[in-house]
Amino acid sequence: MRIGLHVSIAGSIDQSVDRAAALGCETMQIFSRNPRGWRTKPLLKKEVDAFKRKRKKEDVWPVLVHIPYIINLASPKEALWKASIDSYIDDIIRTDTLGAEYFVTHLGAHTGSGEKAGLERFCKGLNAVIRKARPKTMILLETCAGQGSFLGHKFEHIRYILNNVKSRNIGVCLDTCHIYVAGYDIASKKGLEDTVKRFDKIVGLDNLKAIHLNDAKGKLGSNLDRHEHIGKGMIKKAGMQRILRHPKLRDLPFVMETPKKKEKDEVMNMKTARTLAGLK
Ligand SMILES: [Zn+2]
Ligand SMILES: [Zn+2]
Repeated sequence: MRIGLHVSIAGSIDQSVDRAAALGCETMQIFSRNPRGWRTKPLLKKEVDAFKRKRKKEDVWPVLVHIPYIINLASPKEALWKASIDSYIDDIIRTDTLGAEYFVTHLGAHTGSGEKAGLERFCKGLNAVIRKARPKTMILLETCAGQGSFLGHKFEHIRYILNNVKSRNIGVCLDTCHIYVAGYDIASKKGLEDTVKRFDKIVGLDNLKAIHLNDAKGKLGSNLDRHEHIGKGMIKKAGMQRILRHPKLRDLPFVMETPKKKEKDEVMNMKTARTLAGLK
């Protein structure tokens, strides 16, 4: 099994691998830059080389790079949509430069134009990105909590995009907190079975490449995007254990995006996840 965390790139980007390795991560996720601003600093060759060398040495695989929060490829506003396309191109080229396997992508928010218009806009934007950047990294569409006008809280949204984006190099990242608050009851035994079957029927399990393993602060169907420590939220330990040991899921990389208030939070979540997975 491969279990890891979202880690900070503070200092220089290669230091993220040191942090992941010190925590015992076999996989990890990073932002390749400040996720809340438009401006980016170019990656330095020596940072990139050190990043690649350290990853190889520590056997951290796969590496997920998460999309910056400001990008909205579903926006009906022309200026924001165009800026999002430009930024997405820049960000996915950075991901390629780092040699990361996956670029985890939110589907954006339609901000009033409606689900259908938002999904069409997203596909148009992503197709423009792919035409221009021709990325080697695989784009992973992330399931979302469904807060506000954000897209991606229904498996049908993911299916629509898979059908309308002109690339085979595209997969899915399932966030356990997000789908739970979106209304998929993965906390119960039957609910998890039903959800996995439904996912397979609508999206296809062969498209699933990674799991964001997060417990949820919010109730089932609350659309509240607040992550909780593993086993301490609404999915609880029993639910997390079934997810980690599910025969259709356990070979996927599990990356936690759990709260980080104290240094020991990361150690605690790694330990809980490994124990629930049946590892030592
Ligand atoms: Zn995300
Ligand atoms: Zn996530």
